[in-house]
Amino acid sequence: MTGPDTLAPRAPLPMQTGACGSVAAALVAGEVAFAGSGPGDPELLTLKVARALLQADVILFDRLVSDEIMALAGPQAQLEDVGKEGFGPQVSQEEICARMVAHARMGKKVLRLKSGDPTVYGRLDEELTACEEAGIAYQILPGITAASAAVASIGQSLTQRGRNASVRFLTGHDMKGFADHDWAALARPGEVAAIYMGKKSARFVQGRLIMHGADRATPMTIVENASRANQRVIETTLERLPTDLAAAELTGPALTFLGLAPRASAQALTDLKLELA
Ligand code: SAH
Repeated sequence: MTGPDTLAPRAPLPMQTGACGSVAAALVAGEVAFAGSGPGDPELLTLKVARALLQADVILFDRLVSDEIMALAGPQAQLEDVGKEGFGPQVSQEEICARMVAHARMGKKVLRLKSGDPTVYGRLDEELTACEEAGIAYQILPGITAASAAVASIGQSLTQRGRNASVRFLTGHDMKGFADHDWAALARPGEVAAIYMGKKSARFVQGRLIMHGADRATPMTIVENASRANQRVIETTLERLPTDLAAAELTGPALTFLGLAPRASAQALTDLKLELA
């Protein structure tokens, strides 16, 4: 797929037969694989991405890709840290695209490794466009997104029959600053949202939701370092979100759930309501 106007999925990948007879995607010289490393626990890598790590000649990786995962790269791999910090400048998007294209043109097997799933807040499209404009073929290897790992850690479901038939992924901020959303819809009882990059915007999100009539007692849960050894879960409410977030002094990546409490607490509340009824 090289034309920008192509909407059809890319042609099937070249396949090779793996050691145990399984069929596995191979990285191709002169092409780029965009891959998701998952939330941090190396066991949450897909087999495809683990294989790509072994095969790659060059790996351009983001800040949130964990060290344990980078340790799985093959010995030949040239590792380039292109991590981008919140709003701040590090390696610019243009520079990342330029490096990626240059490596592919030199005939390298290029792995562009992003945390979680590359299609979720991964600025993937800019990089796909760069490949297309340069006539470089690519493939996309999915990963487990932070919301999936975080919700598993609190024993909840992202969707639940009778509670929420849909779930939203939100970002607290975008390139222009705080991100706007359909706050009126989000403020309704039973809504569930997974808020990415929500640390700096907690007060903004709280204000918008309350302004649109959300119950101040709505459960909120923050999961820091989901799936990693230093994972922490902070249980709070819409009312207390900014205060509890500040008190927690988070240092790692954190995902905030709107409308979800850890399962044990949610169950205790239901029991209490039944007792009082
Ligand atoms: N593509 C990634 C998201 C990148 S945006 C994915 O699919 O997960 C970066 C944001 O993701 C962080 O600010 C944080 O909100 C979230 N995040 C990534 N890894 C996380 C982790 N291990 N625990 C909690 N949140 C995480």
